[in-house]
Formats: sequence, structure tokens, C-alpha cells
Amino acid sequence: MRSDERRESIYNSTAVASVVGTVRRERGDGLAVIEFLGHESTSMSTKYNFSPGPAILPRSVLEEAQRDLLALPGVGLSVLEISHRSAAFTEILERAQANLKQLLGIPGSHRILFAQGGASLQFSMVPLNFLRNGGHAEYIVTGSWGKKAVKEARKEGEVRVTWDGAETSYACLPTADQLSLNPGAAYLHFTSNETIEGVQFPGEPPLEGAPIVCDASSDILSRPIPVEKFGLIYAGAQKNAGPAGVTLIIIHEELLERGSDTLPTLLNYRNLAEHNSLCNTPPVFAIYMVMLTTQWLLDEYETLDAVDRRNQEKAGLLYEVIDASEGFYRGHAQPDCRSNMNVTFRLPDSDLEARFVKQAAAEGLVELKGHRSVGGMRASIYNAMPLEGVQSLRDFMRNFHAKHG
Ligand SMILES: *Cc1c(COP(=O)(O)O)cnc(C)c1O
Repeated sequence: MRSDERRESIYNSTAVASVVGTVRRERGDGLAVIEFLGHESTSMSTKYNFSPGPAILPRSVLEEAQRDLLALPGVGLSVLEISHRSAAFTEILERAQANLKQLLGIPGSHRILFAQGGASLQFSMVPLNFLRNGGHAEYIVTGSWGKKAVKEARKEGEVRVTWDGAETSYACLPTADQLSLNPGAAYLHFTSNETIEGVQFPGEPPLEGAPIVCDASSDILSRPIPVEKFGLIYAGAQKNAGPAGVTLIIIHEELLERGSDTLPTLLNYRNLAEHNSLCNTPPVFAIYMVMLTTQWLLDEYETLDAVDRRNQEKAGLLYEVIDASEGFYRGHAQPDCRSNMNVTFRLPDSDLEARFVKQAAAEGLVELKGHRSVGGMRASIYNAMPLEGVQSLRDFMRNFHAKHG
């Protein structure tokens, strides 16, 4: 929706409307036309946010959340005020789970849990639950997040890194013949999309014999995943599934039995599952936003195959410019390992890179500076980034090259 369309909206209660914005006029039928707060500035709604996370959310989801913030339809209370034990929240939680189940095709063998502490707490929770009784875990390290996962796991038990891409600055992925899995391992951990380096596995590693654990923080819901092949999938919501504050966990029931009773209650997957993620107060608002975001995916795309096609199309536009630039833009990831979510590239020198970031921002293309460990640019183009946003960046990249190449 364009900013001018958003300035006015009809509200069903003058009292509600006057808190959300300025009441322009009452219509006499109990409805009021209002001007939303904070939408005077047109620049706000014309910027494209390429941030790696917390990241862009679908415009319509933000609008729905804003509309309903003061009073959930049919409830009359704000989602920020309702009890996590209320019928209204139970419905939100169950709808979020049902949406995830439908989109990802989650089989009955797997439970869907919500936790706090971000994906980073999962770096610890996974080994706490599965290594406490001994044994070892195997990790494939394809970037910065995998490295952090190993660091935390080593505090809890024996970790063997079976492949590490450090030598190439995490520009590539292991080939099938470089991978192995000791069937005695408690689990195998990998990161499906390394957000900082921009390398993404095309699928799960072709290994069997131990439960596969995947950090899917930055590509969950961007494409189909064969959930039945995984022991556990986790993802901080703030990249592709909602706002910061909640972590999605999809876990095979068999793994729930492995948690030790001596673990802190909130760090035990079994407890989370037994209480349907309500051991204590969950992040109600963040789960509500996950519900809206997954509903948006279903309404807009229906299936993750369709989402995937769109994501390939978007990423393709940027990689095409990089590849056609005769070395002006240099992609960080090797072509066959490229991410459809985070497009990382460098320019000929740091002066041009600084100019690129600045001029792009002046055109409303913001948050393009890469992570300090990789340098250069990173365009994060999650599900909610519209095709038009990527087309604008592509055009900007072509023009910038023409001017400075
Ligand atoms: C962002 C990110 C994390 C860290 O997430 P937090 O929720 O901030 O802890 C971990 N793994 C990957 C792949 C990420 O992109």
C-alpha cells in the first residue's frame, strides 16, 4: 500500500481511533476516519529495509498488528494485555502452530515449540539436552553462526567438528564426499543458511545414522524442508518468521525423552513440550506476530514452493548483476553455495563501498553494509522483501557500476 493510502483508515470506535491517531471525522454510524500516528513522513514507508535481522516484516502484517493493537477483534483487549492462559491467546498459539504445520508439512512425529533466548540459547540447549549423559556431537561449520554454536556446545560436552570452511573464509560448502557422520553421534548440527557469509545449503546434508539438528534461523519458511528427516530445527523468528523475542523449535518426539531431569525447567525441551510452550509466560506478542506472518504466507503464497520460487527470482536478479559486472561486484560466496536470503558482495575498494552504502541509503535502500567480519555489502532479502525492493536495488547497482566502473 502506498503511504497516502495509509494515512486514513476507518476505525470502528472513536475511542480506539483517537489513541491510534487523529480522528479526522466521525461518520455518524459509529465509525471514525482517522489519520495514523507516525505516518506523516512518506520516507518511512518508501524505504526498503535490507537488514539481516531484526528484519523487514510484511507491510500488511504490520498494518494488521497496528489496527488490532488496542483491541483484538472479538476480544476487546490488546494482545499486549491478555493472559497467556486465556482462550484468546490459546487460539493465537494454536493458529501459529497450525500455520507452521501446514506451511512446513510438519508430521505428527514432531512438536512445535516456542522459546525465548534467541537462536543463541539453542546453541546451549541442544547440547544440554542431548550431551549431558555423555557421548559426542558432530558439527559442520559453514560460517560465523556455526562457529558460535560449536563454542557453546563445547562447554557442555564433547564436540567433533567434521568440516569447517574457515580456510575459504566460509565462501563454500562441503561436497557430499567431504562429509561423514559417526553413527554413534548424539546428533549432527549444521546451519542451513549462514546469514553473515551468505552461504546456504541446497538441502540437508546427505547423512544418516544420528538425529540431524539444524539452525534454520535465517531461511526457515523461505522454502520447503523435509521436516521428517530432522531431529530438531530451530530458528530465531526475527529474520524470516516474525519479530525478535521468540524462537521456533520443531523437535522429533523421540528426542524429548533425552532431556535430563536435572536440567533447569525452562531449558528442558520435554518440559516445553509437556506444557505446550507455556511453562512460564511466553512472548505473547512475538508469537502473535509469528501467527500473522505465517498467515500472510498462506494467504499470499499458499505453499513454500511458491515462496521458494519468488525467493529464487529475487536473489537471481542481484546475482545476475554481480556476475555481469566483470569483477566490479565480487560475490563472497562461491556461485554454487550462494544464499537466496543474504546476498554478500564486495566492491573494488572500501571507499567505493562506503559511497555505495551512503548513496543507496539516500535512495531509500537501507541497511546494506555487510557484517564487519566479511566486509562489503550484504543485501538480506527475506520473504517479506517485495520483488520491487530487489528490483530497485538491482537498478541502483547497475547505475552505480556505470558511474563508478
Ligand atoms: C541471527 C542468527 C542467530 C542468532 O540469533 P539470536 O536470536 O540473535 O540469538 C543464530 N543463527 C543464525 C543462522 C542467525 O542468522
